[in-house]
Amino acid sequence: MPCTLFPTINIFIKMIFENNQAFAQSLDRQDPLHPLRDEFLFPRQHNAPIIYLCGNSLGLQPKSSRSYVDQQLNNWENLGVEGWFEGETPWMYYHKALKGLMANIVGAGAHEVCPMNTLTVNLHLLMVSFYRPAAARFKIIMEAGAFPSDQYAVESQVRFHGYDPKDAIIEVAPREGEHTLRTEDILSVIAAHKEEIALVLFGGINYFTGQWFDMPAITKAGHTAGAIVGFDLAHAAGNVPLQLHDWNIDFACWCSYKYQNAGPGGISGIFVHEKHFSDTQLHRFAGWWGYQEEQRFKMQKGFHPEAGADGWQVSCTQVIPMSLYYASLRIFEKAGFMEPLREKSLQLTAYLCYLVQEVNKSLGFEQYKIITPSTAGDRGAQVSIVAQYNAKEIFEAMVANNVLGDWREPNVIRLSPVPLYNSFEDVFLAAERMLTISKTLVAHKK
Ligand SMILES: *Cc1c(COP(=O)(O)O)cnc(C)c1O
Repeated sequence: MPCTLFPTINIFIKMIFENNQAFAQSLDRQDPLHPLRDEFLFPRQHNAPIIYLCGNSLGLQPKSSRSYVDQQLNNWENLGVEGWFEGETPWMYYHKALKGLMANIVGAGAHEVCPMNTLTVNLHLLMVSFYRPAAARFKIIMEAGAFPSDQYAVESQVRFHGYDPKDAIIEVAPREGEHTLRTEDILSVIAAHKEEIALVLFGGINYFTGQWFDMPAITKAGHTAGAIVGFDLAHAAGNVPLQLHDWNIDFACWCSYKYQNAGPGGISGIFVHEKHFSDTQLHRFAGWWGYQEEQRFKMQKGFHPEAGADGWQVSCTQVIPMSLYYASLRIFEKAGFMEPLREKSLQLTAYLCYLVQEVNKSLGFEQYKIITPSTAGDRGAQVSIVAQYNAKEIFEAMVANNVLGDWREPNVIRLSPVPLYNSFEDVFLAAERMLTISKTLVAHKK
């Protein structure tokens, strides 16, 4: 049955979806972002390109990545140590070229963001500054089922300050029988603990369910409670439009290798709201690269941080990982950053959700249940699908048939059509193969 979705989206006004390949191809022809697909390299298997729906885990390689890295290898070859201050892109200032682009992606001022380190490292460094437990206020509120690295980071921070995670960490969990959190529940937990919380730390988008949390509402509630509010944007940055500055978020960090295509272990980004820049009481774990840029090589005693987010740097800047991030950021720039990408993304996920229901209809029972919120504003590019029967076998058969999503125990298949490089035809073909495989593996369950 056709369904009508998102009447406000201008390029696809009152879209009626159809379950056939020609229709998917016609959407691709109308899609102004479709040509950007050619900027990426698709892995191949069985002599054919893979239908890659795994950008939530590792974004595809831009064709330009190699030349961005090569440029820096050439500088190193030709300039040696002089590369720090010589050449077209002196390494000393290389990060500045990225900051404006990163700021566009997360909705911040360029001075509020900086590329550095990797994500969990940055989460720790930012908690050093922004988790400052005191006698009565020492608790952290976070989502239950946060990404494990975040759980470990928070537990170890709490212990580092001498608290027991059992006392100091409050997790907000979905209600009985539900998969995702209700905003009202998050806000009421924050309000209920308003005397005790030092920090509210949430994911922007939950990695398992794909739920995009109401970041402005959480931030407001956290501030009303007198707490600092930070976000891990691993699954949100480069996926959904963000306004970190205007939403008054205190700090955030993200990785660049998921939706931002900067390669395995890619460099992380941080955001610190400018309102904190003048606070000289903030603790930092300091290192020479956070020192005032003009004075850095005077090598003097006593740490004086560089202004802005750059003052949180610790170690020598990572030029090669930054060059990979830069290559990808330039493609976001070509796309016009997040607003056009978001329009397409909503259509891709809507089409995928429609087709999954079509698969269920063909099978005659609800083999697949989508646990990602159906409301457009509550999700990003990822659709998490619980497979009722033979989940692992179905996932593996899809991979064998060139459809690469990703798998989460015990029975969740995550498919993430990425608007920079996925097409409507990709989504159609993925669903078509899912149906064929399901007919073989689970049709008898009806
Ligand atoms: C992917 C992801 C990480 C990974 O952290 P690294 O330090 O880059 O390994 C951490 N947190 C969240 C929420 C993630 O989605």
